[in-house]
Amino acid sequence: MKTDIRVAGSYFIGLLLLSSFMGCASDGTSGGTALTTGGEAANGAATASERADLTFIREEEKLAHDVYVSLGGKWDLPVFSSIPPSESGHMAAIGTLLVAYGIPDPITNDVANQFSDPALQALDTQLLAKGAVSVDEALQVGALIEEYDLVDIGARRAHTTKPDILATYDQLTLGSRNHLRGFHSQLVARNQTYEPQFLSQAEYDAIVSSAHEKGAP
Ligand code: MN
Ligand code: MN
Repeated sequence: MKTDIRVAGSYFIGLLLLSSFMGCASDGTSGGTALTTGGEAANGAATASERADLTFIREEEKLAHDVYVSLGGKWDLPVFSSIPPSESGHMAAIGTLLVAYGIPDPITNDVANQFSDPALQALDTQLLAKGAVSVDEALQVGALIEEYDLVDIGARRAHTTKPDILATYDQLTLGSRNHLRGFHSQLVARNQTYEPQFLSQAEYDAIVSSAHEKGAP
């Protein structure tokens, strides 16, 4: 089981990195200047990598939201009803930046578990299948999504110096740390262990052993 998850994690990372690269390569020439707004005027135009990152994270947050709502429909656990509103807030925060920088929204029609990004579409399918196996597997999916979001957004943070983008990334990662604490505590309560797939064990332990953080959820 441990090996399966680790292999799956590597597969996901590979898909997502490939997707990010492709998004970046194709994004530099896409239009957006016609939609220039105050955000762009204040901080300068978004770079190609900022545009690709915001486009990806917009749907990355939708994936967290949609997977939790779906798993909440299958397993009656409070964590799957308490966290989705936070993920909706994260989607909206990125959506605000997309508008401010004139970046097209990858979510043109918000249908549950449907994504423009093929890597996220594949990941959604795999996580729903895993989470359908048992309550414990569903909680593992939650922890996996949150630690992935932390590592992914943490890496993309280096691509920007814009204060509004950085502040939004901070808001999203604060939420993810709290969500990870929530899934971890549920797993512990059920005598389950979780082996981090993206964070180091030390990074994971530091988060789950520290207190819930106040701030935007
Ligand atoms: Mn989130
Ligand atoms: Mn989350």
